[in-house]
Amino acid sequence: MSHVFARHSKTTPPQAATGKGVYLYDADGKQYFDGSGGAAVSCLGHGDPDVIAAIQAQVAELAYAHTSFFTSAPAEELADRLVAEAPGALEKVYFVSGGSEAVEAALKLARQYFVEKGETSRRHFIARRQSYHGNTLGALATGGNVWRKQAFAPIMVDTSLISPCYAYRGQQEGESAFDYGQRVANELETELERVGPETVIAFVAEPVVGATLGAVAPVEGYFKRIREICDKHGILLILDEVMCGMGRTGSLFAHAQEGITADIVTIAKGLGAGYQPIGAMMCTREIHDTIAGGTGFFQHGHTYIGHPTACAAGNAVLSKLTGGLVKNCAAMGDRLQAALHSEFGQHPHIGDIRGRGLFLGLEVVEDRGSKKPFDPAKAVNKKLKQTAFANGLLCYPMGGTVDGQLGDHVLLAPPFIMEDEHVGEIVEKLKKTFDAVL
Ligand code: PMP
Repeated sequence: MSHVFARHSKTTPPQAATGKGVYLYDADGKQYFDGSGGAAVSCLGHGDPDVIAAIQAQVAELAYAHTSFFTSAPAEELADRLVAEAPGALEKVYFVSGGSEAVEAALKLARQYFVEKGETSRRHFIARRQSYHGNTLGALATGGNVWRKQAFAPIMVDTSLISPCYAYRGQQEGESAFDYGQRVANELETELERVGPETVIAFVAEPVVGATLGAVAPVEGYFKRIREICDKHGILLILDEVMCGMGRTGSLFAHAQEGITADIVTIAKGLGAGYQPIGAMMCTREIHDTIAGGTGFFQHGHTYIGHPTACAAGNAVLSKLTGGLVKNCAAMGDRLQAALHSEFGQHPHIGDIRGRGLFLGLEVVEDRGSKKPFDPAKAVNKKLKQTAFANGLLCYPMGGTVDGQLGDHVLLAPPFIMEDEHVGEIVEKLKKTFDAVL
């Protein structure tokens, strides 16, 4: 019996043994195309010699120093570089070890910011249904996955949920995409009025929704309207780029494509590209300085914040991303999306093919015409995952059971180093999988 607490405790998965480029190999030598980058993590693929060398050099020089005593050169460098790349006025970077920690820090920072300003009545967050912001209690509270929260209710953070911007299911006949975006964005205004804007801290959203919806990008104008509403009511905009950030959608920051700025942004996954656990919360100087000039102490912290080795990995990853890989992600993403359309565009069980860059989703439905989802009891997503895995393809299917409102989907998030030949390999393995399951 394995003593590792397995994620799904009824089964023990095979051991991953090695990784090279876009492939992983299990202990029996079976090859898997990493079509999901794990969970949209491995943007550089596996075995990148430059990242490995940077980690080795940093471990040899200084593996770790606690941030209550020291900052470090890799942390300073990574913060400078992220600030230089980020849209808007995100000028302070708080390094953590992963996505949930980044979101948790963001929620607490936002709350403390208003406490420092004397606005203690602000306790409420507004987020969106069918979103995911992490598994720690605060992050979980802002997530829109009802089934994930059920066992832990009541959760500490006070949150209400509005609709996501999900044109495939939300846009009505005769309604333009733009009007649809304005209509769902205006749900924020309605919700603010319902709960009282003076009680609200922030609106939290993923610019491109990942795990729960499957690479659903907003329609044009949606986030501009959201920003306007936040500004009108003096609430913060927290954008969670843990999954869609770090180049995944074809620009280093996904929200840069919306032409808006955020007050707080969270990143993780692609920042360490799987080589080190690292995440970050970025905020405006105004938020930072309000706390610095008040109690002077952000009431938060973890042992591994600003970890020098993790930051060294982040620097090496960032060099690769800005050195051409984000561009390759955008180009390969266009090619992969076109290939998916040409192979599955008329498939009776594929309702929608969407996404940006190498962050792509296929929505799987029982009936393409009516968009009727498969009965969740059929567990289509589970079968897709298992069959793709058997076919040597890692993809990231999620179920229509999320709030019972949507179809199953398959999320693809392959490494940015993929080349033309891999487009065909993904499509072929997916076809074999769909032929067997759908
Ligand atoms: N936010 C988003 C948008 C995510 O996709 C995830 C992870 N899937 C998280 C937060 C949580 O990140 P982690 O699993 O690293 O805690």
